[in-house]
This record gives sequence, structure tokens and C-alpha cells, in this order.
Amino acid sequence: MNIKEEIIEFCINNGIDTIGFSECRIFHELNPYFEKRKKLGLENEFEENSIDKRINPFLYMPEGKTIITIAFPYLYSLDFNKKTHFSKYTLGMDYHAVTTGYMEKICKFIQGMGGKTMPFVDSNSLPERYIASNSGVGFIGKNNTLITEKYGSYVFLGEIITDLIILPDKPIDQKCGNCEMCLEACPTNSIVKGQVGINNDANICLSYITQKKHIEDSWFEKLNGRIFGCDTCQRACPYNREIQLSTISEFIPYDYMKNVDVQALMNMDNDLFKDKYKIASCGWRGKNILKRNAIINALLIEKINILAVEKDTSPYIRDYYYRLLKFFNL
Ligand code: SF4
Repeated sequence: MNIKEEIIEFCINNGIDTIGFSECRIFHELNPYFEKRKKLGLENEFEENSIDKRINPFLYMPEGKTIITIAFPYLYSLDFNKKTHFSKYTLGMDYHAVTTGYMEKICKFIQGMGGKTMPFVDSNSLPERYIASNSGVGFIGKNNTLITEKYGSYVFLGEIITDLIILPDKPIDQKCGNCEMCLEACPTNSIVKGQVGINNDANICLSYITQKKHIEDSWFEKLNGRIFGCDTCQRACPYNREIQLSTISEFIPYDYMKNVDVQALMNMDNDLFKDKYKIASCGWRGKNILKRNAIINALLIEKINILAVEKDTSPYIRDYYYRLLKFFNL
């Protein structure tokens, strides 16, 4: 068994079956893509400013030879019928913690074979979907998600840079063809026809809007039940219909994430946040973003009285309370 087969076997024995390998190199070909996005003002505040940090893996490991991509499926149900809801990816244990645990095990295994390792999950700015498609893990759809054959786009991605030279897998080209279902489904038209990614406006993606600290009143109605994240373009995708569900037990949804108690959420204190929401994948943006979105949906979807929010200790929340009253003529 060669190094590659041994790593794959180790991953499979640990419940991970979607893994690919690509050469560690500078992605010069992406330079014009990032330049154009910058010029058109399509980047959002979560994106790395330095193009070099986005295309040069040697900044993270100068002796890197191979990048290993690992896909972690997270979807436990295709039922999307809840009125007020969290995005599917947030429902279980915080994916940063879960995937880091798996990646550390894989890194130890590679180190045992004499390789250096540098794992990443959302912790650098490399183009992980591009690397994943180069590694044969899936293709990048017009909606900019990485679409795997087995689990569709409902996967988290992790990468390991290693100094081991491992035979790369074949890249997978886009398979969208003439389909434009995600473009048609997107409520804000953030996916625009054109070269993948370049015309997609991250600043009006609803997933981003739900996580943005300051939003204009015009976004209130667009939330339409969303508390954190947006699955709309993924739900529209035909490649997400006949898929296998996750078997990673840490991603089994918490009941309170599946069945949202909007009343509790909009009155949430620090203890409730720490106890329930900080440990899920939506926790990293803090308590008040969730409270704000709960208040919006309390009025918009649930038709719940939000009077108690008037006495909230946070000026940020009180500000949204008064703006909402005005916006909805209450
Ligand atoms: Fe591609 Fe259609 Fe899926 Fe969009 S919905 S990513 S166009 S296959």
C-alpha cells in the first residue's frame, strides 16, 4: 500500500470517505479573478484583502508539496419546512471544533509516516473550493459551493498541507451545464450569470446579511425566516437531491436548533447563549446577531409581540427594536 492509499484507508476507518489530493503550488491563474472581484467591489468584510494570502500556500508551509482536501458531510435531513430556521450547516456541534478533531487525527497519522503537516479549517484564506475541485473532491457550481457526488454541497471542507509528495487526483470540471436553478432561486440575485464567482456579489448574499452586524432596514423583509445562514441556492440544486446523509454523529442537529423557539431566542441572555448557541456553528458571530434576527422574524413570520425587547440591556438590540417598530408601522 502506498502513502496515498494508507491515508485514504485511515480516513475511511475514521468515518471520512471523501478525500482528494492536489499539488501544493501558487495559484497564479486565480490572480485575475481576485483582482476583478476587488475592482468590482464584490468582496465582503469576511474576505481576505491580500491576494497573495489567497493564492500562495507556501506562506503557510514553505516546504509544502501536497494539499489534501477532506470533505465532512453535515446534512442529517432534507426536510426544510420550518418557518423560522437556522441554516442546515449550523444545526449540530460547531464544525470548527469537530473538523479540527478529525484533522488532528489525520495529521498525527501523516506525521507517523514522516510527513510535516499544517491543517486548516476556515483558518487561512486559501481558495478551498478551488483546491477541492483540483483534488477531485467535487466541482464548483454556479452558486459557488463545492458539490460532491455523494453528499452534494452539504459538506464542510478542511485542508492539510504536507511536505510528502503524493500523486494528485484529477480535477473535476463544473457540471452545471445549462442549469440556472440556483440563480433563479436566489432571493437577492446575488448569483449573476457569468464566470463562476466573479459576478457573484457576496455583499448581498443573504447568508452574509444574516451574519452582518449592521444591516439597512431594506433587509428586514428579505430575512423571511432566516436566523443564520441561507440554504436557498443549495436547496435549488439538482445535485443535492439524491444524496447520502451525514454519518458524523457530532453533526446530529440539536433539537432547539431544528425547532426554533423564537420567543426564547429574542430574549436570550448570556447564559442561554453560552449553553446552547455558542456551541453550534452559528456561535462565532455572538449573541446579538441571533437576537436581532429572531426579533425581525418574530414580527415578520411568527407574529409575536416583541414588547419585552424594549427593555433589553443592549443598545444595539434596542436600536433594532425601534427601527423595526417604525419599519412595520407598529
Ligand atoms: Fe449548478 Fe444548477 Fe446546482 Fe446552480 S442549481 S450549482 S447551476 S447545478
